Amino acid sequence: MNTPLPEHLQGSATLLEPINQTPKRKLYLESYGCQMNFSDSEIVASILQQNGFETTREILEADVVFLNTCAIRDNAEQRVRNRLQELKSIKRRRPGMVVGVLGCMAERLKSKLLEEEQLVDIVAGPDAYRDLPQLIKTVEGGQKAVNVLLSREETYADVAPVRLDSNGISAFISIMRGCDNMCAFCVVPFTRGRERSRNPESIVAEAQDLFEQGYREVTLLGQNVNSYLWTGGGLKKDNPTEDELKNATTFAQLLAKVAEVNPLLRIRYSTSHPKDMGNDVLETMAKYPNICKYIHLPVQSGSSTVLERMNRGYNRAWYLERIAAIRHYIPDCGISTDVIAGFCGENAEDHEATLSLMEASGFDFAYMFKYSERPKTLAERKFADDVAEEEKTARLNEIIALQNKLSQKSNEQDVGKTMEVLVEGPSKRSPEQHVGRNTQNKVVVFPKGETQRGQYVRVKIDACTSATLMGHLID
Ligand code: SAM
Ligand code: SF4
Repeated sequence: MNTPLPEHLQGSATLLEPINQTPKRKLYLESYGCQMNFSDSEIVASILQQNGFETTREILEADVVFLNTCAIRDNAEQRVRNRLQELKSIKRRRPGMVVGVLGCMAERLKSKLLEEEQLVDIVAGPDAYRDLPQLIKTVEGGQKAVNVLLSREETYADVAPVRLDSNGISAFISIMRGCDNMCAFCVVPFTRGRERSRNPESIVAEAQDLFEQGYREVTLLGQNVNSYLWTGGGLKKDNPTEDELKNATTFAQLLAKVAEVNPLLRIRYSTSHPKDMGNDVLETMAKYPNICKYIHLPVQSGSSTVLERMNRGYNRAWYLERIAAIRHYIPDCGISTDVIAGFCGENAEDHEATLSLMEASGFDFAYMFKYSERPKTLAERKFADDVAEEEKTARLNEIIALQNKLSQKSNEQDVGKTMEVLVEGPSKRSPEQHVGRNTQNKVVVFPKGETQRGQYVRVKIDACTSATLMGHLID
């Protein structure tokens, strides 16, 4: 059994036993930030595996150490910088060890990282992973190596990810890269480049392959999955021709194709953008029982004024209408969100609007953040970061307290219900209990009985906290 890693190390490599006598070089990978980074690390591991590396969990035996970094908020960057300091002493003990910074910080800080952090040998952006074997060679030849070029085409469609730290049941499939949205607070369009969709055939083939390996749940990943559009490759076209659209695959169509791989394969997806969340997707979700009844729909703010300043492309009324549409098509749908407290110019009334929207939407879960100004973004260039730090903290705390109440209420409504749960494995608290998720993405814990990982079981819910449902098996 794999011991679960702390959140900041998710995506870190597991130790693989050598399968032949030729000693392979060892790669140690640490991933920070979002699921997309986790998924990218699996692509990196695959590319290096093709080039004579195997992954290790022991940093002290690594020949190459990669940190796959996140730049979304300042504290994410600080964590990586602190980790780089820690790596200094390890590198002193292993001077030949190659250290690379990958991902969003790489693109943002480029060669600055090489100058400031003398121990960094490689800086590689999210579209440069095929170049990593070459970059390692450059370092072994005595030079530092940088590739932060962003691509118009790269989707790594042909790279079969090496599943890292996997429970063998759930896996991520990246369906697109980059983002064209330019939300005023967000650094992603600068670090990950323009939006590109991946060939649907390769996505379906990856899902099929995972199912055959015993996986029972896939999450289709992208920064704005509703905007997925395959018209033959390359950048997303603003105005596709009629001919291109005739042969195109939309996100709703992609969902249906993946759902048809096998009724026993559950499908999830993340992240949806409210401005692009169309009824075609909701209809498809309602039609296929194996598409999970769960939507992550980040709202960011409940105030139309703030949403406009954020350049989100929708207002409060639009968002609430989308929530109503979800409830209409999928009455039992789980809904979660992202909220930012203290964006530029947010006043007390705007904050109240966020709280009232949360109540009105009845979110089951939320990721909640204080606004953190990011270099190059529209907000940094146009608006003052003018909400005082203490005020941001106070508003965030109110948002968290309200969400705890909403999550508790949502879970209490499930007590007494019987639901289907996909078993993921032993719970952290007790080997006698199994943990899994229901279709709404809620965590369910129950005495394991004879159940196995990857099995669908029926559980009757007896009790709950705001984070977990507890129940017992029903035959
Ligand atoms: N593409 C997704 C979307 O549009 O919802 C999510 C992208 S981002 C990785 C995840 C979340 O981080 C965002 O939804 C937002 O709430 C938060 N976020 C992004 N930039 C931020 C910033 N500068 N300060 C605080 N939170 C931020
Ligand atoms: Fe950032 Fe907005 Fe794109 Fe999400 S949709 S990645 S928040 S720019």
